[in-house]
Amino acid sequence: MLPVKPGTCPECAVVHPPEQPHNQESLTYQYTFYDRYGRWPTWADAMAHCPPEIQAYWREALAERGIAVDIEPESEVEIVIEIHAGKETAPQ
Ligand SMILES: [Zn+2]
Repeated sequence: MLPVKPGTCPECAVVHPPEQPHNQESLTYQYTFYDRYGRWPTWADAMAHCPPEIQAYWREALAERGIAVDIEPESEVEIVIEIHAGKETAPQ
């Protein structure tokens, strides 16, 4: 990885106060995190270092944008589709 610009966060290469979350969408953050933990970061990871009240604020702000912080994006969702051939009844 290229060194981050001076004055930016060493984790995500974005200018933000230390108590605020890393930019989860920053490629620098994603690759730095991946190198360290072997998986891609979630927003929960990006704000793990933040005080509780700041985490609460961000969870709410992200929820308003349709981003659920507590859902792991890499977790597999099992979808079971059952097809019952011949059991469907035609509308009357
Ligand atoms: Zn950061």
